[in-house]
Amino acid sequence: MPTKKAGKQTAGSRELSFTNKNGYDKVSPAELKRCEEYNRAYMDYLGKAKTERDAHDEAVLLLQAAGFRDMAQCARDGVKLNPGDKVYSSREGKTLMAVVVGRKPLEAGMHIVGGHTDAPRIDLKQNPLYENSGLAYFDTHYYGGIRKYQWVTMPLALHGVFVKPGGRKIKVSVGEDPSEPVLCITDLLPHIAGEQNQKPLGQAIPGEGLDVVAASAPAAGKDIKEKVKHAVLSILNKKYGVTEQDFQTAELELVPAGKPREAGLDRSMVLAYGHDDRVCAYAGLKAMLDMKGVPEHTACVLLCDKEEIGSVGSTGMESDLFEHEAAELLDLVSESYSELTLKRALRNSWMLSADVNALFDPMFPSFFEKRNSAHINHGVCVTKFTGAGGKGGSSDASAEFLAHIRRIFDRDGVVWQTGELGKVDQGGAGTIAKFMARHGMQVVDCGVGLLSMHAPMELAGKLDIYMAYKGYLAFMKDARK
Ligand code: MN
Ligand code: MN
Repeated sequence: MPTKKAGKQTAGSRELSFTNKNGYDKVSPAELKRCEEYNRAYMDYLGKAKTERDAHDEAVLLLQAAGFRDMAQCARDGVKLNPGDKVYSSREGKTLMAVVVGRKPLEAGMHIVGGHTDAPRIDLKQNPLYENSGLAYFDTHYYGGIRKYQWVTMPLALHGVFVKPGGRKIKVSVGEDPSEPVLCITDLLPHIAGEQNQKPLGQAIPGEGLDVVAASAPAAGKDIKEKVKHAVLSILNKKYGVTEQDFQTAELELVPAGKPREAGLDRSMVLAYGHDDRVCAYAGLKAMLDMKGVPEHTACVLLCDKEEIGSVGSTGMESDLFEHEAAELLDLVSESYSELTLKRALRNSWMLSADVNALFDPMFPSFFEKRNSAHINHGVCVTKFTGAGGKGGSSDASAEFLAHIRRIFDRDGVVWQTGELGKVDQGGAGTIAKFMARHGMQVVDCGVGLLSMHAPMELAGKLDIYMAYKGYLAFMKDARK
């Protein structure tokens, strides 16, 4: 039993110590109502944004409805932009930038929220169709970091485009509406899987074992060689006017079929394909759409492509795409363009790299360090550094910048936590943060924590989903005072 005196000495421990608390204990009923509303809008978007192209197209619709104009068109028309003007720029129908011009010159720096809209999936190869033992298959090549065993025996939808040599684009979407058929990858039955069961998890299903069953009924006709394959070609020709060679100029992606679902008996979570990273990309977009008034600093939201394979290529953030878009923007907002002004605009920018992090999973406690992991519904997760091993490959945000974010979030009632992905030396990951930091800007990772990241169905807490939106809004409208 402590003496009275000892008790007095520890009376201040509540003020001195810090505990990462559940967000549900911190927010008002009115806030929870807004949280539910926000999640409904997010689930609606996510259900339509099943690929990076869909995510882009749905975002453009929202931007246009809110009065955002195409930046390229502004440039062609010789339009100059003023504070409060809203524009967007699209690259290849995949990467998207949206901007609200601020009061201060661009040179003072932007407030950027950058997420990505590509997600791990299974792509069709360029010569995908073949027949084997009465079944027609699509040969596939997976995209991003998937655990292959998770993708078998589940309903898959086919999305994407065929592009004809003349440039005509034919959009494909099969398997989302319950009236449409789905595709699937088969797995071995347990009765004879003894040998497969002995293999390490990562080798049980090889990359070439992810071919998807496309059909089983042979086409009618005596002279046809591979009748089931022929049947598939007939169906595609009838529906889309394409032939087998058109697969060579197509981008077709298999993703889990169906809409996001509320999860838990208390409906406190969302189970869905593609939270990573549409959950952050949409939050940034929605925050920009909901931002009232003219911000001090130009606000910029990025919905990037190719993050899941290293941000490479012309639509990835490793390219000079962002620098180019910023140059176009500078040209639209200023009387005279200079490279030094552009460099200052980039260097003086602040950024939230809006990407997901891993939540502590009580089913796998040994892979996490509990005290420094993000916990479900404890708020949007701020991650000082990513990388692997000794923080290798990370953009390590400064304490000074973190302090700014802390001040902004606390001021605006954003429930937030810090989180590191897994134990030290357990593995690691990266985001677009390091590519943006190359311009000299302040950048920190900040996004929603997930359970089962990169699985066909990822799980996220509604409160975290909402707090990402709130955090991005607070950040974009902040005046840096
Ligand atoms: Mn991500
Ligand atoms: Mn990812």
